[in-house]
Amino acid sequence: MRINLISDTVTKPTPQMLKAMFDAKVGDDVFKKDESVNHLEQKVAEMFGKEAALFFPSGTMANQTAIKLHTNPGDQVICDKDAHIYNYEGGGVSFNSGVSCKLVDGHRGMFTAEQAKAAINPPDFYHSPLTALIALENTANRGGGACWDFSEIEKIHKVAKDHELGFHLDGARLWNALVEKGETPEQYGALFDTISVCFSKGLGCPVGSVLVGNEETIHKALRIRKILGGGMRQAGYLAAAASYALDHQMKRLAEDHQKAKEIGKTLAELAIIKKVEPIDTNIIIFYLQDDIDEKAFLEKLEALGIDLIGMGSGKLRIVTHLDYTAEMHQEFLKIIQKIM
Ligand SMILES: *Cc1c(COP(=O)(O)O)cnc(C)c1O
Repeated sequence: MRINLISDTVTKPTPQMLKAMFDAKVGDDVFKKDESVNHLEQKVAEMFGKEAALFFPSGTMANQTAIKLHTNPGDQVICDKDAHIYNYEGGGVSFNSGVSCKLVDGHRGMFTAEQAKAAINPPDFYHSPLTALIALENTANRGGGACWDFSEIEKIHKVAKDHELGFHLDGARLWNALVEKGETPEQYGALFDTISVCFSKGLGCPVGSVLVGNEETIHKALRIRKILGGGMRQAGYLAAAASYALDHQMKRLAEDHQKAKEIGKTLAELAIIKKVEPIDTNIIIFYLQDDIDEKAFLEKLEALGIDLIGMGSGKLRIVTHLDYTAEMHQEFLKIIQKIM
């Protein structure tokens, strides 16, 4: 038995999800004739109380499209220094939209309304880039799956609107935050102009993301998606997996969170571990003691059938997910207690 805790993207479709995909009614989505894609887009738009939605092959493409929608070349996007759009999208903000990022020095990938306001360049001071967009990420990936305080998001929304800025949410793991905090998609839809959500993380789909927004925004997004090469044909097989996941694999995210907390508790008790970051959802970030060699440690685990990711300088990450079963969980807890 191999236990893969590298990411929640490693999951494979369940037999029931594969059946839903197998049975999907499909058409050519570039002509908007794929029933299953249309159904998913409508379903997600309704969940968020938004007018429209668009299916994407990846979260990166959905975010990049949103950034393009909200900006012109030369503009600036405000985001946290740990943001996925800044760190993990290949420099796409500059490549695709010709914009720069103003990085906010937040805490666990999250920042305050005050920090957001301070990051805005005065619009008539033409020496600095024109601030066009504030982008948040919930849960914050590099922040260790941290969930935002909703009241802070409301305050940042007010800052964005007062300064006529776009407001985008990278919600790749928003599902985890919703389940953990008992929040609703409508709450988020009411504040953000655009929201991207992923199906290939905690929800266990092989592929797929959706961007929601108003009718006009999503109409423009359709053109940008085409330019980026994201127009797909019989994509309904993938959309059917996403619809299935929304109906059947959302609530169980709480189990991933529970397992993550149990792992964190066990790790915190081990002498070779210096520190475990707070655990809000399904991501655990922890640090080895300074005298422990990270590479040797990871190799030892690998030999015992456990895959983890090192983030450098003794910082390690574990992500729980759909394919990390109760049996694997017990096994993993036993192994780490033994080898440490
Ligand atoms: C995974 C992820 C994305 C999208 O990544 P893709 O690999 O393109 O699907 C975007 N934002 C965050 C925070 C993510 O974790």
